[in-house]
Amino acid sequence: MFRLPKLTHHNLTLQIFLGLAIGASLGLLLNASGLNQLTWIQDYAIEGLFHVGGQLFLRSLQMLVVPIVLISLVCGTAGLGDIKKLGRIGGKTFGLYIFTTAVAITIGLLVALLISPGQGFALVTAANFEAQTPPSLTTTLINLIPRNPIDAMARGEMLQIIFFSLLFGLSLTLAGKSGEKLLETFEQLNEVVMKLVAIVIRFSPLGVFCLIAKVFSEQGFDAIAPLAKYFFTILFVLLLHLGLVYPLLLKAFTGLSPLTFIKKFNEVMFFAFSTASSNATIPVSLETVEHRLGVHRSVCSFTIPLGATINMDGTAIMQGVATVFVAQAFGIELAFSQYLTVIMTATLASIGTAGVPGVGLIMLAMVFQQVGLPLEGIGIIMAVDRLLDMVRTSVNIAGDATISCIVANSEGALDRSIYYSSPEKQEV
Ligand code: ASP
Repeated sequence: MFRLPKLTHHNLTLQIFLGLAIGASLGLLLNASGLNQLTWIQDYAIEGLFHVGGQLFLRSLQMLVVPIVLISLVCGTAGLGDIKKLGRIGGKTFGLYIFTTAVAITIGLLVALLISPGQGFALVTAANFEAQTPPSLTTTLINLIPRNPIDAMARGEMLQIIFFSLLFGLSLTLAGKSGEKLLETFEQLNEVVMKLVAIVIRFSPLGVFCLIAKVFSEQGFDAIAPLAKYFFTILFVLLLHLGLVYPLLLKAFTGLSPLTFIKKFNEVMFFAFSTASSNATIPVSLETVEHRLGVHRSVCSFTIPLGATINMDGTAIMQGVATVFVAQAFGIELAFSQYLTVIMTATLASIGTAGVPGVGLIMLAMVFQQVGLPLEGIGIIMAVDRLLDMVRTSVNIAGDATISCIVANSEGALDRSIYYSSPEKQEV
C-alpha cells in the first residue's frame, strides 16, 4: 500500500518557515545586488524556477478549493441535521464577520488620523489607476444563487457554491433513506480530498520558497522608502488587530488560549502570506481549523469558505489607512459623515468580492468613488501593495479562524482536547 512518509506539524511548520526565510533572503539578495537584472537570472531563476515552482504550488492549492468546499460543506450540513441550527450558525458567523470588519476599518481610520501618514507627502504625478467596478449590493444578493451549479463550480464562484452545497447537504438529510448511500459516498470523498491536501502540503516548503523568492527578487524594499509612513502605519494596525483584537475576542468569548491558536495556525498564515490569496488558502485553513483547532466540520466547512470570501479585516484596515493617506496627500478634508460612509462602503464591498491577490485595491476604488477621492491616489500606493497584500491576507484568514472557533464554541462544537493537543505529536 502507498503511504506518505511520517511528518508532524511541528516539523512542517519549521520547514515552511525555512522556505519562507531562505526565499525572502535570496530574493532580496538578487534584488539588492542588481543580479535580478541579468538576463540569465531572469530567465532561469526568476521567470524559470521561482515562477514555475510557485505557480505549480499555487495551482495545486487552487485545484482543491472547489472540490473541498463542495464536499466538506455537503458533509458538514448533512451532519447538522437541523435547519434551525444552520440558521443560527449562519447568523452568528455573518454578524461577527461584519462586526470585526467594521472594527478593523475603524481602527485603521483612527490610527491613520493620529499618525497622519499623508501629511507633507510630496505628490509627484501619480500613476494611472484603471478602476474596475465591483458588484453592487443588489447584484451580490441576486448572484448568491447560481443559475447553474456546474457553471458556478467551473468559475469558482464561492458564494454560489456555498449556497448550492448547503441546500444539497440539507436535502440529503431530508431525503432520509435515499440520501444515506450518497452521504456515505460524500464522507468517503471527504477523506480522499483531505489526503490530497496532505500531499500538496508536503510540497509547501518548496512552493512557499519559490513564491517568496520571486516576489522579493522583483520588489526589493526601495519601493517602500517614499511610502514608508503609509506602509508602516498599515503594518502596525495589522499587527495590532492580529495580536490584540483577535486574542481578546477569542479569550473573551471562549476562554481558549490565544497562544495555542497562534502556534497552531501560523502555518496557515505562512500559506496566506506567500500566496496573498485567502481563496487558495481555504484547503489548508479548513484542515487546520478542523483537525488541529478542534472545530467541528459542521461549523468550519461553512465558516472558512464564507470567511475567505466576505471577511477581510486586513483589507479593511488597508482601506481605512489608504483613505486618510490619500485625502491628506491631496489636501482634501473629509467630513465625519464621509468617514462613516467609508466604514459602510468598505464593509459592504468586502462581501461581494472574492479573496484573491490585489482585490483590496478594487474595493478601495469603490470607497474612493463614494467619498470623491481621486483614483490617482490608488496609483501611488500600488507600489507597495503586493507586500501589504501578503500581510493582510494572513490577517484576513486568521480572522476567519478566530470567528470559527468562537461560533463553534458557542454551539458546543469545539473539541478542546484537539485544540490543546501537542503540535509535536499531530501528524500531517
Ligand atoms: N489578497 C487578499 C485576500 O485574498 C485580498 C486583498 O486584500 O487584496 O484576502
